[in-house]
Amino acid sequence: MTRFNRILLKLSGESLMGEQGYGIDVKRLSEYAAQIKEVADMGVQIGIVIGGGNIFRGLTGAGKGFDRVKGDQMGMCATVINSLALSSALGAIGQRNRVMTAIRMEPIGEFYNKWKAIEAMEQGEVVIFSAGTGSPYFTTDTGSSLRGIEIEADVMLKGTRVDGIYTADPEKDPTATKFHDITYSEVIARGLKVMDITAIAMCMQNDLPIYVFNMDIVGNLRRVLSGDDIGTLVHN
Ligand code: UDP
Repeated sequence: MTRFNRILLKLSGESLMGEQGYGIDVKRLSEYAAQIKEVADMGVQIGIVIGGGNIFRGLTGAGKGFDRVKGDQMGMCATVINSLALSSALGAIGQRNRVMTAIRMEPIGEFYNKWKAIEAMEQGEVVIFSAGTGSPYFTTDTGSSLRGIEIEADVMLKGTRVDGIYTADPEKDPTATKFHDITYSEVIARGLKVMDITAIAMCMQNDLPIYVFNMDIVGNLRRVLSGDDIGTLVHN
């Protein structure tokens, strides 16, 4: 038995670039794929959302003079690139998977459909949800909340490079302390940078718990599913 039966795993695009500062680090990519296969082999049903920040972010683009909507569309395309990369890495190690897109772009991916996604997950396929929500002015965090709620996931696992939520940024403030668990309202009230407010509010309203943990340490995804308390739980 695992701690959760069906998960929505959110990976940031930024983590995918590993040490190289841009693009896709193949070592990090294959480590992620191996960790995902490990929990799929435990019988966990897995949906995944990956960001696109390693390639393009609409808001950053707007700051440089790009049209915001076109910039966001570029960001969504970036998430499709990352999703295809992960799909390929999973396929290479024998993990059945499919990419769904929030914007029609067959044959790159299948157009998103909740019921098809659930059916695939029930049959052991990992489903990667790309292109976020399909709309500008949103983030992949909101895309994850939305897909997590739709596919009736037990939890959203937010894989980051930090091992949970702290009172302040632990990379900048050495006195920061870690929360074992925290409510959504407290995350918002304290202005903690876990996910954007839209994403948190959706999880709060629909009772989807968020578990923040360090995905960059190989084996941690399995540890979370096995019940090890290595991150921070956000709940109502
Ligand atoms: N994006 C969007 N709508 C969505 C999801 C993403 O417009 O529903 C765009 C947005 O420009 C964002 C970019 O895609 O900056 C990449 O996603 P995100 O910043 O969430 O990636 P991450 O920070 O997780 O790598």
